[in-house]
Amino acid sequence: MKIVMLGAPGAGKGTQAKRIAAKYGIPHISTGDIFRANLKAGTELGLKAKEYMDKGALVPDSLTLELIMDRFNNEDCANGYVLDGFPRTIPQAKALTEALEKIGDKLDFAVDVDVPDEAIISRMSGRRACLQCGGTYHVVFNPPKVEGKCDACGGDLILRSDDAPETVRHRLEVYHEQTQPLIDYYKDEGIFERVDGTKDMETVFEDITNILDR
Ligand code: ADP
Ligand code: ADP
Ligand code: ZN
Repeated sequence: MKIVMLGAPGAGKGTQAKRIAAKYGIPHISTGDIFRANLKAGTELGLKAKEYMDKGALVPDSLTLELIMDRFNNEDCANGYVLDGFPRTIPQAKALTEALEKIGDKLDFAVDVDVPDEAIISRMSGRRACLQCGGTYHVVFNPPKVEGKCDACGGDLILRSDDAPETVRHRLEVYHEQTQPLIDYYKDEGIFERVDGTKDMETVFEDITNILDR
């Protein structure tokens, strides 16, 4: 099964993608996590991406595509994947469609986790992230067992610098301008589905699995 998660920054794509990955036995691929892991490791790619990420801008398509196409070659992708944070622009979506067409394949679902902007800003200030394993928590809605430590790997939890309210506002603008058009793109492909992302995490997950299991 090949799934794309759509939705604004902070809508809950990562939270849901991790659960989908666990339930269906497919890898969760987050371009943001890959960029952050590269940054932490001090690679050239990481340093290039940082310039854009810090400003809340998108990393250029060429760089992003190189990275993701390479990731698809990994053997864990044989049975599909759930993509979180990719594609984020029409050129990225087209590149993905074309790459799949070349191997006689296609996406199964594009699931939009719908949350209005007002809810996003407050949600993001409570997000805490583990840079070691990509785990995400929320100080109120999904707190870790031990404050400041990742349940999964024990890594330190941080408030991402790009989750500051000013940067989140800019990221939302970028989302509306460059990523929201993907909704029509995937409606045209006939694979678009929407869930209400303002519900609690468990209910959102049930709504998603009801769609995937149809
Ligand atoms: P969120 O989960 O809050 O939406 P991500 O971790 O997906 O944030 O992305 C963080 C940042 O990484 C983005 O603001 C952008 O700078 C960069 N990024 C991630 N994925 C992409 C992509 N597909 N294209 C361009 N930039 C990306
Ligand atoms: P995205 O990957 O779309 O940027 P995340 O999955 O990282 O979003 O979620 C953003 C923040 O909101 C995290 O702190 C997460 O724990 C929290 N969150 C996710 N889904 C919900 C939900 N349904 N209700 C409340 N908080 C949520
Ligand atoms: Zn962790």
